[in-house]
Amino acid sequence: MAKCDEGYLCEVCGEPVEKLGDSALYLQYVIGWIDPETLHTRRECHLRCLPSLSQFIDHESFAPLFFEGDFDRRQLDPGFVRERVELVTSGYERIQQLQLRRKDLTVEDYPLPGVMDRWR
Ligand SMILES: [Zn+2]
Repeated sequence: MAKCDEGYLCEVCGEPVEKLGDSALYLQYVIGWIDPETLHTRRECHLRCLPSLSQFIDHESFAPLFFEGDFDRRQLDPGFVRERVELVTSGYERIQQLQLRRKDLTVEDYPLPGVMDRWR
C-alpha cells in the first residue's frame, strides 16, 4: 500500500487490501509493533483475516470477532485484555483517521504519539 494505493494482497485470503483502515500491517505499525525499517518488507493482511489481532478491537465501526485457540481473548487475563484492547483499538482509530488524511502525511507521521521515539 505504501506509495501507490493499489495492489497489495492479503497474505491470508489473497484479496487486495484496498483501504488503510483495513490493514493489519499498518495497525501494527502505528502501535509500534512493526519496526519502520522493516515495514516495506512485510506482507499485507486484512484486519478481519488476522483475528489474533483484531479480536482486541472494541469499536462501533468494527464488528467484533473472536480468535479460536490458545490466544482467545475470552481465555486471557482480564487485565492483559484491557490493556491490549486499549492499545489495539487506539491503533484502529488511528488508521481510520489516517485513511481520511493520509495525503498530507508521510509514513513516519503515521504512528501514535511516542511510538517513533522508541525506534530512534
Ligand atoms: Zn484477507
